[in-house]
Amino acid sequence: KLFNELQDLKGNIRVYCRIRPFLPRQTGKQSVIENISEHGQLVIANPSRPGKDGQRLFKFNKVFGPNATQGDVFSDIQPFVRSVVDGYNVCIFAYGQTGSGKTYTMTGPDGATEEEWGINYQALNNLFRVSQSRRQHFLYEVGVQMVEIYNEQVRDLLSGDGSPRKYPYSKQYRHIKWKLLYLFFLNLHTVGITTISQPNGLSVPDASMHPVTSTSDVLDLMDIGFKNRSVGATALNASSSRSHSIVTVHVRGKDLKTRSVLYGNLHLVDLAGSERVDRSEVTGDRLKEAQHINKSLSSLGDVIFALAKKSPHVPYRNSKLTQILQSSLGGKAKTLMLVQINPDASSYSETMGTLKFSERVS
Ligand code: ADP
Ligand code: MG
Repeated sequence: KLFNELQDLKGNIRVYCRIRPFLPRQTGKQSVIENISEHGQLVIANPSRPGKDGQRLFKFNKVFGPNATQGDVFSDIQPFVRSVVDGYNVCIFAYGQTGSGKTYTMTGPDGATEEEWGINYQALNNLFRVSQSRRQHFLYEVGVQMVEIYNEQVRDLLSGDGSPRKYPYSKQYRHIKWKLLYLFFLNLHTVGITTISQPNGLSVPDASMHPVTSTSDVLDLMDIGFKNRSVGATALNASSSRSHSIVTVHVRGKDLKTRSVLYGNLHLVDLAGSERVDRSEVTGDRLKEAQHINKSLSSLGDVIFALAKKSPHVPYRNSKLTQILQSSLGGKAKTLMLVQINPDASSYSETMGTLKFSERVS
């Protein structure tokens, strides 16, 4: 009961946990998962302390076990996504060590079938469906941005070569772009969706905005974006684990009767791997990366913690990540943290680190 009251207090912050299955090459491994209950409780067992003494209970709004499908996860997230067309700002984060399934949950596996689509694609698909079904009353425009934060620098993932730059495109390109937007607008007016003609409510003002009108537009764009992610040479993962990637979906809805306009934003954030880096083993660039990641993840934790306890001071300025997302964290905005767990006993200490982070924000 107390737990429920606490959940109410937290209002717009939800914390879900997802445990990925063992992969085919991991057969015969020992798991740290002792028990998962329907009410969002998870019991973790310390592999080197068998018995009750080595067990710890963690509470979430919901726990998805290793058999949960992408569809199971999305059906619980859909209400968040849907509120974007009603003018809400929503942030969905995937947190966890490298290899815990963050990208699987947010994007899906490489070459995903529609059933395997991650939250990104399903969310956009859902938004298009809702906007279509409301087209008698609303005219919706949808635009997508994709950026990455690497070493506290924001890079546009959809600007062509992906190098850091102040403006997304040259004057010349911008001119063509506006023409294209105009054509899009003319074409799509009739089908109930049109394209965002003005970057509104931007939290990443310098990143290029790409109008989308169908799920296949989105698939194409994200393909480009994900290919542009920074590649870091950690032993754990060859790519993308050292940066945060943010897909932002901007929705502008015009009520055809009253002419009033509402704006909603959805930010889908695949965070950098949360694993602790052994200082004795990394130096130079790797150490710098690790320090930036630590700082931004702990700043994110501090912001969510401050929001959860309704603190008058929310420390948004301490990292690029929280600065960019400031307008979508707090106030009426909704936040969903997806805490990803690798069940392997050899990941026990990282898993405990992840769960302690989540305990602080939930
Ligand atoms: P991360 O992004 O946290 O580094 P990934 O999403 O790349 O982790 O997942 C690591 C591996 O586990 C990948 O091969 C991925 O396809 C697989 N995987 C993750 N979650 C699941 C899941 N729920 N079901 C099946 N395979 C999964
Ligand atoms: Mg990943």
